[in-house]
Amino acid sequence: MNQFIHDKEFEPFVSESKIQERVKVLGAQITQDFQGKKLVLLGILKGSYMFLSDLCRAIELPLEISFLRISSYEGTQTTGEVKQVAGFHDDLSGKTVIIVEDIVDTGISMDYLLKEIKKYQPADVKIATFLYKPDAFRFKYSLDYVGFEIPNKFVVGYGLDYNDLGRNLPELYQLVNSQ
Ligand code: 5GP
Ligand code: MG
Ligand code: MG
Repeated sequence: MNQFIHDKEFEPFVSESKIQERVKVLGAQITQDFQGKKLVLLGILKGSYMFLSDLCRAIELPLEISFLRISSYEGTQTTGEVKQVAGFHDDLSGKTVIIVEDIVDTGISMDYLLKEIKKYQPADVKIATFLYKPDAFRFKYSLDYVGFEIPNKFVVGYGLDYNDLGRNLPELYQLVNSQ
């Protein structure tokens, strides 16, 4: 069924069962890849909360869960955004950190996060993202665990919002073209 959120219409794109199936596969891969490591899942708020919640239950290893919120501001520079990490005090030193994101679009946010998180001296940093838009991506770093590669179209649901609504939808929707 299509969803009407604010002024826009969204159509079903990836079903709840397909998402759950894929997240279990990612969890099994992570379980295999990080035996014996001090593992931290670092969720980026707000969008990653639902993905992280399912992913952590699909990983059969001891792990810590941490969250970080980045805020973006309209910068005074012409080049664009300034991002800031707000109130993060967890100990990442010597640990394997998997950054858990809802979506990597241009990759600007993740590029910023990779640089910031390295300041906390982790043993290793990996990336798990529920969605990836390869046509929008502008960087060279590799994404270690990707749920779904999607076209360059706006999506909502499964943690992702449109102007603060739509995060609680258990499946993914995409914007209807004509809007
Ligand atoms: P970036 O361009 O830095 O990779 O992505 C920045 C942020 O834009 C993402 O973390 C996400 O919050 C938002 N974003 C990018 N594409 C979409 C999309 O299709 N839907 C929603 N809801 N948010 C998106
Ligand atoms: Mg995000
Ligand atoms: Mg958003």
